[in-house]
Amino acid sequence: MVKYKDIKSLTTDELKEWLNAAGEKPFRAEQIQNWLFCHQVRDFSEMNNVPPSTQAKLAAEFSIQSLTPAHRADSSDGTLKWLYKTYDGHFIETVMIPTNGRFSVCVSTQVGCAMNCSFCRTAKMGFTRNLEAGEILEEIIRVNWHLKDSNTLGEDGKIAQVTNIIFMGMGEPLNNLENVHRTCCTLHHQKLFNMGRKRMTLSTSGIVPKIKELVDRNTPCCLAVSLNSTNNERRSVVMPVNDTWPIEKLLEATDEYTRRTDNYVTFEFVLMKDVTCTDIAAKELIRICAPRRCKVNAIVLNPADDPTLEAPTPEEVEHFLALVRAAEIQITIRNPRGRDISAACGQLAYNQQKVVYAHTEST
Ligand code: SAH
Repeated sequence: MVKYKDIKSLTTDELKEWLNAAGEKPFRAEQIQNWLFCHQVRDFSEMNNVPPSTQAKLAAEFSIQSLTPAHRADSSDGTLKWLYKTYDGHFIETVMIPTNGRFSVCVSTQVGCAMNCSFCRTAKMGFTRNLEAGEILEEIIRVNWHLKDSNTLGEDGKIAQVTNIIFMGMGEPLNNLENVHRTCCTLHHQKLFNMGRKRMTLSTSGIVPKIKELVDRNTPCCLAVSLNSTNNERRSVVMPVNDTWPIEKLLEATDEYTRRTDNYVTFEFVLMKDVTCTDIAAKELIRICAPRRCKVNAIVLNPADDPTLEAPTPEEVEHFLALVRAAEIQITIRNPRGRDISAACGQLAYNQQKVVYAHTEST
């Protein structure tokens, strides 16, 4: 009846229903979820106000840990990247980015990705499956475990905790909207993670009908859209999704999002030498943004696998930013974090060698 393997994937009502059918008291659902998400326990046996017989039933039906760490890479800038093996033998990556007392986690939402953007490494993996909400939540919980185990302190002198979530790791979050929605609801829930809407940002390549669904569902998160190019011909070359949902359709959807949620959209804009980092592109970007309530987050292309694409020089980037700023468009440049460990945007991919390395290292 319950289709999820990981207990963290269930809503409170689903857990109540399961408990009821198993002859248990439904009120235990709140207790169990308090252990899972507030105390972030690592085993059912730690739930000490839940009777051992109930713990045993839960353990027989569900897992509480779905991911197994396979490798960790540490960047010189403090960024950490974990490679995890899923319960069915696939690999995903999670990145933690510490910045001035904030701890942001970039989570994967799918094993691989089906969008096939030419500049992104994850695309080369192809698509395997969606991650369950419990798996996505575990990516975050495991960072909290790391912060606790390493005794990392926050600005208040207490053990640090994850403060921000960005759905920008492997995968297209809107192609896994059901599970991403569940994840956001659990993160936002006052009695669970209690994370504000503004601390969660979902980034999409532009799946137009799913942007509408996100609004209909009132998923508690902010929206970022990978615009990356301002002209259909150019965008279709680097992002095949543009053939299905071209820029006009995408902007209709983001306009509707802004109108109905009263939130601005962030347009991500990957700067690629001679492709998107040009004077023409800057002019077109201004034309798109000037009449809208939006922000632009420019990202300098990180090395991936397409030999035809190059990063612009710092001068070219400055010139592009200056043109856009002159039109009073809000544009910021994303600091590339974790490039030395391939943890920056577009660099996440499963690499067999890393697993072998982690294995030999520990033996
Ligand atoms: N599928 C979602 C989220 C994952 S990608 C999306 O497309 O938005 C997260 C961000 O990284 C996107 O804005 C994407 O355009 C950007 N990105 C992908 N590859 C990149 C690369 N090689 N260099 C810089 N940014 C990249």
